[in-house]
Amino acid sequence: MQDIYISLGSNQGVPTVNLDRAVLALCDKPGLTLIRKSSQYQTEPQEFKNQPWFTNQVVWMSADKYWTPEDLLSLLKKIETDLGRVPGPRYGPRLIDLDILLFGNLIHREKRLILPHPGLAKRAFILIPLLEISPELALPDGSNVKELLNNLDFTLQEYSIFQT
Ligand code: ADP
Ligand code: MG
Repeated sequence: MQDIYISLGSNQGVPTVNLDRAVLALCDKPGLTLIRKSSQYQTEPQEFKNQPWFTNQVVWMSADKYWTPEDLLSLLKKIETDLGRVPGPRYGPRLIDLDILLFGNLIHREKRLILPHPGLAKRAFILIPLLEISPELALPDGSNVKELLNNLDFTLQEYSIFQT
């Protein structure tokens, strides 16, 4: 068994429904078990400001030993396509974005798959839901979520996250 963390984001269609569907699709897979899912947060877009706010969420699952990071990435891409994601610009509007944040303590650096996710330490919309569901989580380099959040400039109001 290994602990995996997945980030979900959407700002097209009905974002909350898109995230719920993606979580259901993940739970449906043999060998993947949901441990906790965070609340859904409303997030200010970071790069292209002129687009709808995002809805973001993080889920913590346990994966049976036979799951590899590549298998999981392929599954996430398949769920994105099944839910109707079409190619578009990076940081632009998307129906659903599913990223692997952590796969156990694995460190992996290839263009197709970077672990831990390269945005993890910089994005309040990832760290806030992570802290909600897994406050004791340590990253492979020993850093923890709370100290990473302390380094960022953001505002959290109820479930809205502002970070420029
Ligand atoms: P974004 O970077 O905004 O998530 P995409 O979803 O289009 O944009 O992803 C671009 C590429 O990033 C994917 O094709 C995928 O192969 C690669 N990638 C690298 N590391 C990861 C990761 N940890 N999780 C998901 N995708 C990743
Ligand atoms: Mg992605």
